[in-house]
Amino acid sequence: MKKKLFSLVLFLQAISMSAQEKCGHEKHQHDLFANDPIAKQAYLDAEYRLLHTDIQQFLSRNGASSTTTVYEIPIVVHLMNDGATPLRTDAEIIAWVENCNKFYDTTFGGDWLTTAAGGTVIPFKLVLAKRSPSCTTTTGIVQVNVTATYPQYSIKGCNSSNTDGVSNVQLRALSRWDPQVYYNAYIVNTFDSVPIATTSGLQGYAGFPTNPDSSYDTFMKASVVIDTSDPTTLPHEFGHSMGLHHPFNTGSTTACPTATTPTLPTLPCNVDNDLVCDTASTKSLLGVAPLPANGDANPCDTAGWNSVQFNVMNYTSSNRLFTAGQKDRAVTLFLQNRENLTKSLGGTVLSGTPPSVIATTCNNPVAPTNTGNFSFGPTKVAIGTISNVSSASTTSNSNQVLYDYTAKSCLTTAFKTNLAVSTNPQTLTVRCSTNPNNFSAWMDYNNNGAFEVSELIVNNQTVSPNTDTPFTFSIPNTGVTLGTPLRLRVVGDDNDLSANPCGQLAYGQVEDYEVTITAVPLSTASFDLDSLKLYPNPTNNILNIEYKTAIEQVVIMNVLGQTVITKNINNSNATIDVSTLAPSTYFVKIIAGGSSQVVKVIKK
Ligand SMILES: [Zn+2]
Repeated sequence: MKKKLFSLVLFLQAISMSAQEKCGHEKHQHDLFANDPIAKQAYLDAEYRLLHTDIQQFLSRNGASSTTTVYEIPIVVHLMNDGATPLRTDAEIIAWVENCNKFYDTTFGGDWLTTAAGGTVIPFKLVLAKRSPSCTTTTGIVQVNVTATYPQYSIKGCNSSNTDGVSNVQLRALSRWDPQVYYNAYIVNTFDSVPIATTSGLQGYAGFPTNPDSSYDTFMKASVVIDTSDPTTLPHEFGHSMGLHHPFNTGSTTACPTATTPTLPTLPCNVDNDLVCDTASTKSLLGVAPLPANGDANPCDTAGWNSVQFNVMNYTSSNRLFTAGQKDRAVTLFLQNRENLTKSLGGTVLSGTPPSVIATTCNNPVAPTNTGNFSFGPTKVAIGTISNVSSASTTSNSNQVLYDYTAKSCLTTAFKTNLAVSTNPQTLTVRCSTNPNNFSAWMDYNNNGAFEVSELIVNNQTVSPNTDTPFTFSIPNTGVTLGTPLRLRVVGDDNDLSANPCGQLAYGQVEDYEVTITAVPLSTASFDLDSLKLYPNPTNNILNIEYKTAIEQVVIMNVLGQTVITKNINNSNATIDVSTLAPSTYFVKIIAGGSSQVVKVIKK
């Protein structure tokens, strides 16, 4: 009898603690994993993959080691109102997002610690969407009348803990933008029938980057947007969406953390459960003020506090900071799982650039035979000015096979380059990771949307892991549509896809790029046109060329891009005898000071 009563008391304590939690991230991840074993496996796979990643090497290879790299993430804020009030104004949302970015780059001031004071710059910037899913101009702020569909919303708000408010699934169904292009933030009037004027209790929660798209977003209470006493809710919640745990994780205000959820292999740094090595183990510091000092005893970690009491992910009330370990984990997990958001154009002003590459006539390849993270597919494609480093394999939450980097949509970043027939042979460099891949590539030279055998530029070549592997090919002199963006397709897989660019993949990935081919190279920006003199034009016999610095070489090409004259100069004045050339139009390429310029010349 006594035992039974004790259990009941504990149960009630648990309920009451849960009601006090500021952040419902753990509860919602736990609920998701309980109901969706694929989501749980995706999380475990991602943590496993991270464990086997040399993080510093990964960051360096992805350009994330540079202090100037900042990832702009388009955000759309859905203001889930009750039809009577706008919930929050645009100006309030704009200031709220700007403040979050100042927290991340440590320029907020106040008790947000600068790098000199021990803080760490988080290289993410939330940018309110500037182009909508239908490619129209937008503020990135959407007002949604929830009460019109769910009358109970005005009092009960959003359901978080099995109450009869409106569920997050129902709210998402009212307004949602593609999570591969935008980060969706839902602002609700309240959670679980808590009176709207009450600012304590649950403030919000956010999904992990490994979550399925359907639950990768955040829900927050409207009061946090204007809460000047604790402006950390958005930087904290997006922290979860970058892949950060609470440093106290399974602990509470009264208990140190004990176990990792879900269970992971025992690791040197998992004793405090947030899988970050430079955050000490800690209890939740919810409501703790003043905070302990670094010299004070930490009941969860014999090594002391090490500033974990000031950590943004630890409900701190002052001296807010992230650690370098959190930054490294966040950037790596984000790039490995939500890379598309770093390449989205959702936050870029709409320029009205029309789609340019025609669609393929064959269907996109179907999903690979084996789904999951097998580290197959290109991790780097470089050609011309394109150098795209990306994650291998398909992400386990979407099993995406085709990554179309051409400008076919206004919402995705185009990876485009120009190539000139005259600079044959060309080089396509690829890389893969973990497993040897079979690479094939096609260039749709005749721009008919199909990949013919004659357009195969890399024919089922084996590429060793982690090795930049160049392949050379020559653009043919005939049958090429010049001056028009063409589709380049690169396939890395365990299967040989060379006979069928739209065939069944075993594990890998297809990446499409945009290549514009010209007969001769287009001019380079660094060439000083004002100081270039070329005369006479048209000419009969002699062509004079003058430039401000030494001209290294002059190359004259015909309209097919074939070189007809090459002359080394090494002087700022050049005289070229063109008397032997047939009357026609020619392209004269002047190479000087490491750049070049092409000028059209008429031979009479
Ligand atoms: Zn949290």
